[in-house]
Amino acid sequence: MTNDVRSYVADHSADLLADLDAWLRIPGISAQPERRDEVIRSAEWFADACRRTGFPVVEIWPTDGMPTVYAEWPSEDPDAPTVLVYGHHDVQPVDPIELWHTDPFDPTVDGPVLRARGASDDKGQLLFHLLGVRAHLATTGRTSPAVTLKFLIEGEEESGSPHFEALLAERRDRLQCDVVVITDTGMLAEDTPSAVTGMRGLVLADVHFHGPDLDLHSGVFGGAVPNPAQAVARLTAALHDDNGRVQVPGFYDDVLELSEQERELLTRVPFDEARFLETSKSRALAGEAGYSTLERIGIRPTAEVNGIGGGYQGAGSKTIIPSDAFVKLSFRLVANQRPAAIREAVHAFIEEHTPPGIECTINWEAAGVAPCLVPIDTQAYQALSRAVCAAFDADLILPTWEGGSGPEAAIQQELQAPMVFLGVGLPDDQIHAPNEKVTLSMLYKGAEAAAHLWREFAEVGREGLKS
Ligand SMILES: [Zn+2]
Repeated sequence: MTNDVRSYVADHSADLLADLDAWLRIPGISAQPERRDEVIRSAEWFADACRRTGFPVVEIWPTDGMPTVYAEWPSEDPDAPTVLVYGHHDVQPVDPIELWHTDPFDPTVDGPVLRARGASDDKGQLLFHLLGVRAHLATTGRTSPAVTLKFLIEGEEESGSPHFEALLAERRDRLQCDVVVITDTGMLAEDTPSAVTGMRGLVLADVHFHGPDLDLHSGVFGGAVPNPAQAVARLTAALHDDNGRVQVPGFYDDVLELSEQERELLTRVPFDEARFLETSKSRALAGEAGYSTLERIGIRPTAEVNGIGGGYQGAGSKTIIPSDAFVKLSFRLVANQRPAAIREAVHAFIEEHTPPGIECTINWEAAGVAPCLVPIDTQAYQALSRAVCAAFDADLILPTWEGGSGPEAAIQQELQAPMVFLGVGLPDDQIHAPNEKVTLSMLYKGAEAAAHLWREFAEVGREGLKS
């Protein structure tokens, strides 16, 4: 089977390249209103590619923003599990354009890589899926896939998915599935297959302390009235203890500790701390005691000060008690912390640190983002692992964590199905940056893995995917 899939993909790699070349020429930048028609053209192009692949149901779903492509291919087997594949067809802006070595919308093959905006994020990855479906059918001799496939390909992920949750709620019935496959991430290295097993969530707070109604003379009033700048400093200092532990009561209550097996796998992830330090342009590493740098940036929740200010900022001195001060805070969350509960805990903590006479206003930026987690002992993850290992001739895949989650948490919440990540981007793909590229051999391996995955999921079955 492995060899059949491999040779089918190798024999048809030129089709994938031709598709890439055509689609990457469409500058579907969702963040730029003047590109609206191009984003629509990008959706239509992918819809047509799904029809060419054989999907019998292909629709373009309008939203209040950019359109989503939906394609469905029911399995003939009535007991087959249903798989929902998520990705996005829009791309990031290209500025600063002068740093590109080639035209971002004129795809250029350069040895093992292809350079263009969207090559890795996310068009290349969606196109490996189409080749994967064809390889799956050809090598199993089927006329419909072994699982019912639903592709949900969003058109404004790069603009923060502002209409995606509404779309999920509106189309919930059509999107019912037994497992979700997210295809918008990467692997550790070409020879180190891996899969994302978690994404951190986010809560943002903008805290404003208002003291006296005007700046006061510090010689006349200093020492006798509350000072909002000092209060903000005390609040900020109280956020962590000397071990880097967040001091907000209840902050860690819902944190799932990693299993022994997960922590062991994590130690095998190649991670060069010296290089990380160099990349950070920081002069030291710091963080929560008892955890490695890799754990600190992946599996641990954090509280960070993003900005702080108040009072006189000009040259020389100005002897005042300032009227106002602020601090901007962000909290990275891990499973199973809930944004609403963390907001409540932080709110209580800030109130407790607001001295009498200071008026406190907290602006919560949006509703927050929930973290998401893929437990590695689930059958869905095990099936993914087998499929990726077959494609990469590997014995195991390593777990990775990604910093920012996009629509994944919303999908998990709305559809209540287990989720796995099949993505083949590489850390140096320069996504969102000038000279974005994709390594072509990774796309071919992705196609192989997808072809294996539909067979693996079918073997696990609907019931199996629940465990
Ligand atoms: Zn993406």
